[in-house]
Amino acid sequence: MIIGSHVGMNGKDMFLGSVKEALSYGANTFMVYTGAPQNTRRKDILSLRIPEAWKLMEENEMYPFVVHAPYIINIGNTEKPETYKLGVDFLALELKRTEAMGSNTLILHPGSHVGAGADAGIRQITEGLNTVLTADTNVNIALETMAGKGSEIGGSFAELARIFNGVTHNDKLRICFDVCHVNDSGYDLVTQYDSVMEEFDRTLGLDKIAVIHLNDSKNPCGAMKDRHENLGFGNIGFDTLVKIANDPVFENIPKILESPYVKDPGDDTKTYPPYKYEIDMLKKGAFDAGLIDVIIKDS
Ligand code: FE
Ligand code: FE
Ligand code: ZN
Repeated sequence: MIIGSHVGMNGKDMFLGSVKEALSYGANTFMVYTGAPQNTRRKDILSLRIPEAWKLMEENEMYPFVVHAPYIINIGNTEKPETYKLGVDFLALELKRTEAMGSNTLILHPGSHVGAGADAGIRQITEGLNTVLTADTNVNIALETMAGKGSEIGGSFAELARIFNGVTHNDKLRICFDVCHVNDSGYDLVTQYDSVMEEFDRTLGLDKIAVIHLNDSKNPCGAMKDRHENLGFGNIGFDTLVKIANDPVFENIPKILESPYVKDPGDDTKTYPPYKYEIDMLKKGAFDAGLIDVIIKDS
């Protein structure tokens, strides 16, 4: 199983620290932001300690890792040209950084139309992608399936397919399949797994999935909310998450956990990463209802 979580990149270790963090969870892949996901301040690529990080990855036979673009990028915005421009410029730099770090997948939230309507948003996103993706681009952009909250584009497979259809170099487009988002946007993976996957295959193609965000959801199917839950403790549930993790169709696809950190009941300034425990539980394939308590006790 190719399994990992999102990890940080900070301090003196930078990217080397990301790899160390992933290893501490027993992961063989991971996802990293090139800096804080909520801003566009980025360190010089030469200060990230990339060669050392790669040495450690090779020693531990880690699978390809993935990079996530910051979620403040919105190339679907037609209302504020400066937001769109900033998004496109930053995205072009993220592609360069992703390549320099040695990943071939940059995950991107397609964008939000902020009131202009889905058609205008999709047109703008398509234009943005056509600006950054050229014949020479060496990194794929994986558009993430979205929960459809607010004016998000990408809450349906059909919307994502419209973007694919409008992009000239769409051989460089992939999909990041976020299980929580797919649930929240109204696809019932729990009782309609096969038909949801068939619809995806018909609309976009299962072979386009480059990453799976293996998240449970705090909300029921169709809630359009986007709040992740610890594995097995939400509305999707452990059985369906294990089914996806072990689906032979996705055997060679990295599965990334984005579960919330566990809060310390005695001290609300403290939170603990659940990933080591969740990865272990997934590998065993048996749900542990006491997992959250174990994480708190161990930490
Ligand atoms: Fe995301
Ligand atoms: Fe996600
Ligand atoms: Zn989410």
